[in-house]
Amino acid sequence: MKTIYLDNNATTRVDPRVFEEMQPYFCDLYGNPSSMHAFGGQVGSKITEARERVAAILGADPTEIIFTSCGTESDNTAIRSALESQPDRKHIVTTKVEHPAVLNLCKHLVKKGYHLTQLGVDENGRLDLDELRSAVTDNTALVSIMWANNETGTIFPIEEIAHIVKSRGTLFHTDAVQAVGKIEIDLNKIPVDFLALSGHKLHAPKGVGALYVRKRTPFRPFIIGGHQERSRRAGTEAVPSIIALGKACDVAFENMSIEQNEVRELRDRLEQGIINSVPLTIVNGDESSRLPNTSNISFKFVEGEAILLLMNELGICASSGSACTSGSLEPSHVLRAMGVPFTFAHGSIRFSLSRFNTKEEIDFVVKEFPPIIERLRAMSPYTEE
Ligand code: PLP
Repeated sequence: MKTIYLDNNATTRVDPRVFEEMQPYFCDLYGNPSSMHAFGGQVGSKITEARERVAAILGADPTEIIFTSCGTESDNTAIRSALESQPDRKHIVTTKVEHPAVLNLCKHLVKKGYHLTQLGVDENGRLDLDELRSAVTDNTALVSIMWANNETGTIFPIEEIAHIVKSRGTLFHTDAVQAVGKIEIDLNKIPVDFLALSGHKLHAPKGVGALYVRKRTPFRPFIIGGHQERSRRAGTEAVPSIIALGKACDVAFENMSIEQNEVRELRDRLEQGIINSVPLTIVNGDESSRLPNTSNISFKFVEGEAILLLMNELGICASSGSACTSGSLEPSHVLRAMGVPFTFAHGSIRFSLSRFNTKEEIDFVVKEFPPIIERLRAMSPYTEE
């Protein structure tokens, strides 16, 4: 059975061009970039190239890029650095719809004595910027707001948010893990202090990420040890993965129009195909400001997990909007924050595409998906009053 992979916000296929670029650095060019000899030195220059490539996709300077092990590490480093560099400020502002990489750290910090404000969102997943304006005080060490939401694809107006936060003299971090490679980002124009990205969301391998830290932003390392990454992140570099991340950024930067046009077209074809043939559906997220690859749809009176199981039988991979916590299937915190009605939120599916998907795959899903919902609704104990 062929796999139809529509779960690219969870992780992506490594692009064969990326794989090819990293391969020599396992068995042949395995030197340590910190070594004095030329064998290590050539690896060092390849890391320099990777840093330039990551900087280019962000509109940043290479000295502003720190390689990390993942998006989560980048988020944790940014938040902890902001708190450590301003010990007198004890307040953090974030949103209710962040990834656990930010949310769970913030909740942990509350236990350590920090105050947390979590901004809400409306039914389309949009923030109220006046709520942000009034949340930031002189005690606020950091505002952390994601660029694009991993579940719904909603893109926040980061440029406007960054200007609001900076006008208050506060540090601003954005988790751009889902945005980098899918939409244009130019940090020459947008005054963020920290930005997190992750390799495996943009066709590089798992286990590598990067943190952008704007020049002159106070910085305190999270991992302390050797002098790697100019003493900002110790530990011998994950050389092949860093080279892969650089190549993935390069490919993504050059192919941004594929995401904007072809992937978007396929996503719309899928979404329209499904909502036109399945009644009682809601598309979740801000349709006017959404990642081109993401479609989150709720189906009334069915369980997301049951939909996933039946899709799985056909080789179709996607995600549900529920998290199986303590045995009960709770709708995700994102859909709850948006106030998606309970009978819909339980049956939410996130489809996330990539440039490797084809029209044939989408047409197969559009044909096979509606009978799945019909079958489940026929068995559902719930009915329309
Ligand atoms: N932030 C967002 C928005 C994500 O979607 C993810 C991963 O799903 C992360 C952070 C964490 O990234 P990583 O898996 O590289 O730690």
